[in-house]
Order: sequence, then structure tokens, then C-alpha cells
Amino acid sequence: MTVTGPTELLATWEAGLARQGSGRALLLHRAARPGADTDALLSVPLGERAADLFALRRALFGDRMQVTLDCADAECGAAMEFDLDAGELGAVRPVVPEGGLRVTEGDWVVEFRLPGAADLAAVATEATAVTDATDATDARRLLAARCVVSAVRGGRVATAAEVRRLPGRVLKRFAEAAEAADPGAELTLAIACPECGAATSAELDIAAYLWTELDAWAREVLLDVHLLASAYGWSEPEILALSPQRRRYYLELCADA
Ligand SMILES: [Zn+2]
Repeated sequence: MTVTGPTELLATWEAGLARQGSGRALLLHRAARPGADTDALLSVPLGERAADLFALRRALFGDRMQVTLDCADAECGAAMEFDLDAGELGAVRPVVPEGGLRVTEGDWVVEFRLPGAADLAAVATEATAVTDATDATDARRLLAARCVVSAVRGGRVATAAEVRRLPGRVLKRFAEAAEAADPGAELTLAIACPECGAATSAELDIAAYLWTELDAWAREVLLDVHLLASAYGWSEPEILALSPQRRRYYLELCADA
């Protein structure tokens, strides 16, 4: 991966400040795949996007990711710290079986594609638009319906209304097939507490994790620019053009002076 320069990264950070989770994830994904258009990025399977973001994370900040998590045991609650390997996690990319994600269940034969970020966003919008309480099953049903490539029921093409009401068994089989084909779509950590032994599980959202790191990095770089501009009168582009090593060295000289 070509490492994006500090100027482009600062622009990504600046654009992300005004956005929330999914908007930031899209900006980071674009930084990972410069040149790809928005629709293409949003339709990439979720595990593919996660792998792209892990690759970006490695290029920017290295392999070792430090994670802290509180023990889920209410009486213990110990803070746990552990390392993850971005290279290992990013190696998991989706593999769709030959013939696609095909579910044969009862009188249904349904072919699905893997969901991408656009599908999750659409389901979230649709789910909140439905006034009566939308539960997890409804959300799963909406997602599955969006990902249907073809659906045959009892030997004839299923209607759109039927596709929107896929039976629970088909939904379950779709979820299983999608997880098997795209295991990196959701990354759940299961950590045993070194204090009490209780297991804590948590989801690792690489986009949110990387955003937090980028935010800290950007603020640090801007502080460097401020200090060096004040000391030497250099412009922002001039300072950003320095390697991190030179920037650090000049800052040390300023501190010594
Ligand atoms: Zn514990």
C-alpha cells in the first residue's frame, strides 16, 4: 500500500471531524483505496473493507495494536490491556464459494451477495423510519432482502413482497453462509480476565479504532506545525514536507534553546 502523505491525511481528518461513524469509515476507506469511487467503496463486502482498513492502519501506525477493555464481571471490572496484530487481522478477506451464496431451504432457493456498508446504512435508515418497534429480526430481514440476487419459491420467481418477508429459516441460513464467506465482517474479541478468569467479549470496530488514532496523530502534527512555525517562521506545507524524524529533531532543538 502507498502510504498517504501527511497533507492528504490531515485533509481526511478535517473532513471526518464533521461526520459520524459511517462517514468517517468511508473517508478512511477512501484513504486506503485512493481512486476508488464512493459507490464501489460502499458496496465492498464488510470484511473486505475491514481488511483494507487494517492494511491502512499497518501502513500508518504499524502492526501492533494496543487494546484496552474492562472486565465484564461487575465485581471485578479490571482494566485489561492486550495487543492485536493488524497484519494477522487484515489477512482475513472474504471468499465467496463458487456458485455464490446459495441457500436452499424448504421450497426456497435464494442466491445472495455479501452485504456492504451501503446495505447497513440503508437498513439503519429504513429501520428507524418504521414507526412500530423494529427488532433485530426485522433488521436482519431488511438486510437479507437487500442482498437477494435471485429468489425462487416453489419453482417460480418470488415476488418483491415475498422477498421482503423471507422466512426465519432462510434468514438464518443466509447469516451462516455470509459469516462463513466473510468471517472478517464482524470481529468479536473474547478475552479471559487475568484477575478473575471471566470471559469478556467485545466487538473491534477497526474504522472507529483507526479514527481515534488518526485524530490523536492529527492534533499532534498540528501542534508540531504550530511550534515550528512559531520558532522558525516556516509555512505549514514546508513543515509537513519534513520527515517525522527531522520534525522531531528541530522540535528538540527548540526545546533545548
Ligand atoms: Zn475480571
